[in-house]
Amino acid sequence: MIYTCGHTTPDSDSICSAISLAYLLNKIGREATPARQGDVNPETQFILDRFGFEAPELKTEFAGEEIYITDYSDKGQAPADIEEATIVGIVDHHKLGDLTTSTPLECWIRPVGCTNTIVKEMYDYHGVEIPANIAGIMLCAILSDTVIFKSPTCTKIDTKIVRELAKIAGIEDFKALGMEMFKVKSAVEGVPVRELILRDYKPFDMHGSAVGIGQLEVIDVSIFDNIKEELKVDLEALRVENGLHTACLLLTDIMKEGSEVLVASEDTSIFEKAFDTKLEEGSVWLNKCLSRKKQVIPFLEPAFA
Ligand code: MG
Ligand code: MG
Ligand code: MG
Repeated sequence: MIYTCGHTTPDSDSICSAISLAYLLNKIGREATPARQGDVNPETQFILDRFGFEAPELKTEFAGEEIYITDYSDKGQAPADIEEATIVGIVDHHKLGDLTTSTPLECWIRPVGCTNTIVKEMYDYHGVEIPANIAGIMLCAILSDTVIFKSPTCTKIDTKIVRELAKIAGIEDFKALGMEMFKVKSAVEGVPVRELILRDYKPFDMHGSAVGIGQLEVIDVSIFDNIKEELKVDLEALRVENGLHTACLLLTDIMKEGSEVLVASEDTSIFEKAFDTKLEEGSVWLNKCLSRKKQVIPFLEPAFA
């Protein structure tokens, strides 16, 4: 039995790719079950409800199990006991991480906007038909990861595959569905600040320095005006509690197409050098910055070298 499972603090791509990949594996004669390493966020819950899926099984221990990893390849985002599991495959669209294996594995890693885009190519490769409800969740994951095609990570392959999936799922106006999803994502009122910081949070090892980067993608960043000070204070508290060198929170405005980045750091000059900018009261607006993987990490990581 193979567990298909995405990264810690799962996002919609991690959950939906675990489901879509498990269905494919079963169809080609490899018994598989989807799993998740953490709570389902509100956007993902909206997607699951919309297409009639239950959340995958919550599972954090994989010792002795076979696991097919989706949507990451960094050890920091893997289960703690990953070294005692057998990684049978990786399907991902991030930079190559630091996971290694002791047996040969199947790798589907490509620079596209979403893991579900690659899973769709796997279905085509194996000649397996995609059920309408699975096409629906795959489509939503791609719209989420590519910020409805606005992210610089979005490729022609992603847009082509979204159109194909929309046809299969019977969705006429997929952009309207995408906006509905981002409206759900933008409902932050009354949510504790720590929960917001950790909602889409990833830990990284940058040349020996521990760095954490969270991101909130909303339709209008002014919704954070009232809680920005509280977010800054808690970001620094999180940094100290977790022994991080630097903790960042991207407040991304998908309509203005940029991000305000809140930075808590042992040495803020590293961030300032990375982005050739000056922080003011611990934050800075980065125009056109929508993607953590393509517009933040590739600049921040070398600054720690
Ligand atoms: Mg992800
Ligand atoms: Mg992804
Ligand atoms: Mg994302």
